[in-house]
Amino acid sequence: MEQADKAMPFTGTLNHVKPTIFTEMSALARETGSYNLSQGFPDFPVEPELLDRVNHYLRKGMNQYAPMAGTPQLRQAIVNFSEALYGASYDAEREITITAGGAQAISAAIATSIREGDEVLLFSPAYDCYIPMIELAGGTPITVKLAHPHYRVDWDQVKRVVNHRTRMIVINTPHNPSGSLWEEEDYRQLAEIVGNSNILLLGDDVYEHLVYPGRRHLSLRNFPELRKRSFVVGSLGKTLHVTGWKIGYCMAPENLMKEFQKVHQYQVFCVNHPMQRALADHLEALDFGSIGAMYQRKQRYFEQLLAHTPFKPLPVSGGYFQLAEYGHLSQEPDRAFAERLAREYQVATIPLSPFYRDPTDHKVLRFCFAKDDATLEAAVEQLKKVKATPD
Ligand code: GLN
Repeated sequence: MEQADKAMPFTGTLNHVKPTIFTEMSALARETGSYNLSQGFPDFPVEPELLDRVNHYLRKGMNQYAPMAGTPQLRQAIVNFSEALYGASYDAEREITITAGGAQAISAAIATSIREGDEVLLFSPAYDCYIPMIELAGGTPITVKLAHPHYRVDWDQVKRVVNHRTRMIVINTPHNPSGSLWEEEDYRQLAEIVGNSNILLLGDDVYEHLVYPGRRHLSLRNFPELRKRSFVVGSLGKTLHVTGWKIGYCMAPENLMKEFQKVHQYQVFCVNHPMQRALADHLEALDFGSIGAMYQRKQRYFEQLLAHTPFKPLPVSGGYFQLAEYGHLSQEPDRAFAERLAREYQVATIPLSPFYRDPTDHKVLRFCFAKDDATLEAAVEQLKKVKATPD
C-alpha cells in the first residue's frame, strides 16, 4: 500500500528557481528585527484622500469585476499622463490594459510574444522576474552586462549578440537595481539595431516618475519608431506608495495589445475594481513632479547620511534604490555580507549577485531609501558601527 504521508515526486517548471531575494531578505529582516532597506516598498503613509476614495467606491458598490482591460477612467488617466510626459498618444480603448502590478504586465507581455527557441536580450544586473518568465515561455534569455559601477549599456556588445533569433529586448529605465537611466543616445542606438527587424521591445518603466536632478526619464513612448514595437509597463504601486495594491499597466499599439489581452484575460481576467476607480480620480489631480521631488530629497538625504558610514555610495539617477560598495571592508561574498549585516547590525539590504546569471560579485549592496527619514536615520546609525573584517 502507498504511504499517504509520502510526497509524490514532482518537478515543477521552475524547479531550479528559489524564493526571490526580496522574499528571503524581508524574511531575514523580520527574523532579525532589522531595519528593512531590502525589498523595495515605502514605509510611509498613503495619502488619506486616496484611502477615502477607495472607501467611497467600496461603499458605492464597485465590488464586482472591473472590465477586463481596466476601468475606462483609469485607462484614460494613464493615457493622459503619458501624452503629457512623453508626447505619446495611445488610445484608451484599445492600447492599454490595467494589470495586477508591473510584474504581471511583464509576465503577460513575455507570454504573448515568446515562443520556443526565441532569444530575449536583457541587461544584467536584471530585475529577477524577467528570466524565469522567458524560460517558462520556452525562450532563451541572453544577457549583456551593464558595466559596474556606472551600469551603462555597451552597444557594441549588444550588436554582437542580436541575431535572427532575437525576438525581444527588455529595457528597464530607471534601472533596478542600479539606478542608472537611459539617455537619448541609448534609444538612438537601439533604434538603429532593431531597424527593419521584427524585434519587439519590452520597456519596464515602473520607476518612471522617480528621476533625479537635471535628469529626465525617457521612455520607449517618446520615440514613435520604437513605440510601434513596444510593450511599456508602469506601476501605480510604485508611484503612489501602494505596492500592496498590485495595480500597474501595460501600453502597446493596438495590434500588440489585442494579443496581450488574450493572455491577460486568462491570467487574471481583471484587477481590483474599487482601487482602480480611486486611483483614476487621484491621478487626475496628481502633481508627478512633487513625487519626483520628494524622492530626490530622500535620495540626497540618504546619500549624505551614508557618507558618515564606511560604505561607498554609487551615483543614482533614478528609482528608489541606492547602491553602495563594501569591498574595502570585507571580501565576503555579497550574500554572506548582507546576511551578516542583518544579523549583526540589524540592517537588511539586497546583495547584487542574484541579479546576475553568472557568479558576478562586485561587493555591492542595494539599499531602498523609500523610507521615513526616521527609518533611514536609525538604519544609518547601525551602519556607522560596521567594522572592516580582515581577509
Ligand atoms: N520590486 C521590488 C524590489 O525590487 C520587489 C518586489 C517583489 O518583492 N517582488 O525590491
